[in-house]
Amino acid sequence: MMQAITINVDIPGSLPVLLSSVEKTSVTSLILTGNIDARDVKYIRDELTNLAVLDMSAVAIKAYNGSDGTTPYIFLYPSDKIPDNSFNNKKSLRQIYLPVNVSSIGDYAFFRCSGLSDSLVIPNSVTSIGDYSFSDCFGLSGHLVIPESITSIGTGAFSHCSNLTGSLVIPETVTSLKNGAFGYCSGFTSIVIPNSIVSISDFTFRGCSGISRVVIPNYVKAIGNYAFAACSGLENLTLLDSVFSIGCSAFESCGKLKSLIIPKSVKTLGQNAFWGCSGLTSISVYSKEPVDLGSSIDVFYDVDKKECTLLVSVGLRSLFEKASQWNTFENVVERDTLYNRSIGQSNDSGYPRALQDSTLKGLLESIKISKWKGGAKTCANFSFDDNYTSHNEIARILDQYNYKGTFFVISMNMLVDSLIAIFSRGHEIGSHTVMHYDLNNANAEEDTFQLSKSKEMIENAIGAECVSFAEPHHIKSSLGTKIAFGYYLFIRNHSEYQSHQVLPMNSELTIKDFMKYVDAGIQKGDMLLFSGHGIDGNGFSPMKKDFFIQTLNYVKSYADSGVIWVATIKEGEQYENLYHEVSFNKEQYGDTIRFNFRNYNKEKYKDLATSPISLEIPFRMCKGIVSLTDSVEIIKTMDRYVVTTDLKRSTGLVLILDGLSNYTDSMTLKSEELLIIHPNPVRDILTLSYLGSLQLVEIYDLEGRLMFRSNNDIFQIKVSHLPKGLYVIKVQTIRNGNVFRYRNNFLKL
Ligand SMILES: [Zn+2]
Repeated sequence: MMQAITINVDIPGSLPVLLSSVEKTSVTSLILTGNIDARDVKYIRDELTNLAVLDMSAVAIKAYNGSDGTTPYIFLYPSDKIPDNSFNNKKSLRQIYLPVNVSSIGDYAFFRCSGLSDSLVIPNSVTSIGDYSFSDCFGLSGHLVIPESITSIGTGAFSHCSNLTGSLVIPETVTSLKNGAFGYCSGFTSIVIPNSIVSISDFTFRGCSGISRVVIPNYVKAIGNYAFAACSGLENLTLLDSVFSIGCSAFESCGKLKSLIIPKSVKTLGQNAFWGCSGLTSISVYSKEPVDLGSSIDVFYDVDKKECTLLVSVGLRSLFEKASQWNTFENVVERDTLYNRSIGQSNDSGYPRALQDSTLKGLLESIKISKWKGGAKTCANFSFDDNYTSHNEIARILDQYNYKGTFFVISMNMLVDSLIAIFSRGHEIGSHTVMHYDLNNANAEEDTFQLSKSKEMIENAIGAECVSFAEPHHIKSSLGTKIAFGYYLFIRNHSEYQSHQVLPMNSELTIKDFMKYVDAGIQKGDMLLFSGHGIDGNGFSPMKKDFFIQTLNYVKSYADSGVIWVATIKEGEQYENLYHEVSFNKEQYGDTIRFNFRNYNKEKYKDLATSPISLEIPFRMCKGIVSLTDSVEIIKTMDRYVVTTDLKRSTGLVLILDGLSNYTDSMTLKSEELLIIHPNPVRDILTLSYLGSLQLVEIYDLEGRLMFRSNNDIFQIKVSHLPKGLYVIKVQTIRNGNVFRYRNNFLKL
């Protein structure tokens, strides 16, 4: 039954006594006049359970100091501000008329008011819109008019308002547009970014799949991480000559983007910046030299390097053809020249087959993937839950050991500055739901909200993907786990392949029990999961700081000798997955082995910085190991070499196992100076000088493929037909009856 009531509140805080207990539950439409404060707003939110229409247009909001306002931990409520959490999660609300003189809208004021269904009218007295104030109001429809009084729009303020339509015009008065402000507003068809914005924050327009065209005005210096990621409808992007940096994944999965101009002002491009922009047919680069992509992985992954032409300035083609990642484009064309290169397909059939040596087969079979990174017997993770103030101190203690931990936060209570500090020092920030909600098989919709929203809120806070989750109270549910794996790659103690036991790091724990748990874990090769809340009186059942240090020292005694690998949840769980998912095959060419890792799911792990995998090679196989693949770490343990490579950088690995097989067993490799090759870099003819008479010369590419082989005593080799790149040349000579083997590298232009 509809009931409309008009009430004039003379004394702020008195609304509760102006409504009868029957009216409290029956009122569906309320018009307020007079003066109210945060107590009245709390009353409306919590007690008027069926309220659908609230007209506050003629009411004044007065200041309030006290503990009965809308947020338990806030005691100061200024006047003319819609208080923080005013109508948080009030689903009955369908229509709202804001006070015409209100100057700001508080954090979470209309958070999750999914029942709001009309267009939103923001009075032109408002100057600031708080964090998540209208987040998840996916019923709001029509145009969103942002009045020219507004200067700042908070983090996630309108995220998931997917029914807002038309053009989003952000007025020039706005100078602060925080992370994720319009994330997943998929209904907007275009956006206008004003000249007042100098940096587009992380995640600002992520998932705005309805926009087809974006012009970045030439005041913008930086485009943040994921700023336009998953704008799957974006066809037309204009970057003007002011942008200095483009963040990680900034335009990831913009599959409809056809052409791209990278102005000469651009100096940095982040990891995955244009990942999945598979529709690109041309990229025009105006810089004077190729932007260095050496430390940004997969900037153009999944861009079709055959179909997409790379256009560069006159005279720069050869520079681009040599530069990291730029060199993967098959058609590099200098602008203003009509010269079109025709590039032949490289053909594998010309290469000789791998040498087969049956005597070596058994030995080679003993090369295997380590169960844990670097050949460790187990992996250990320190995690701390619930976001306590002592976490910063805990992170600092971990820093002293150079260990990285994982901090699982309740996203509604995030201590954002502290979290950013912890994250920036390399620790992981994981999710622990929005409000410490137990996933309990009861409510898929609520589980989904708690899991997806906390991820979004953490990502907005730290400017990076959040990939790990931990269940509050360690309560598991099959439904919750299933939904969680839709949003997170990793769940603490819920590995895809095996479960591990968690050790609570609380005030009850003794060092004896801690040591017992560690020793048993090492025996079984089980991941060690230390899960605490806080130290020195802060947090739920906190440990003493001294005790925490004792435990760290015990772990260190194993970690220093390589028995324990201390890692974050994402590092440890990813490695465990890779161990189960990845396999390899190998080809042998003399003492050179080329490994090809298979089943590495690049897509799945794209948001991680590295995907390490370790191989164990027993000492008896060789006298030493040299890697021809970049960024490979080789360590010696008691009885084996452990070679760790990063699948993110390359799924191939080429190792020279010195002294392998009967290829030669008399001599180790000699220093490179004894084989002199020139010129280097070389275009056509390589000239060799060496001591003795030449028995064998071989040239390999960095994939380990044999490209040239000769038994003749030659000193010049024609290399003009080789594709450009780095090569290894190996020479075997004989002198005074002794065999010598040399190796050197050269660059083919
Ligand atoms: Zn917890």
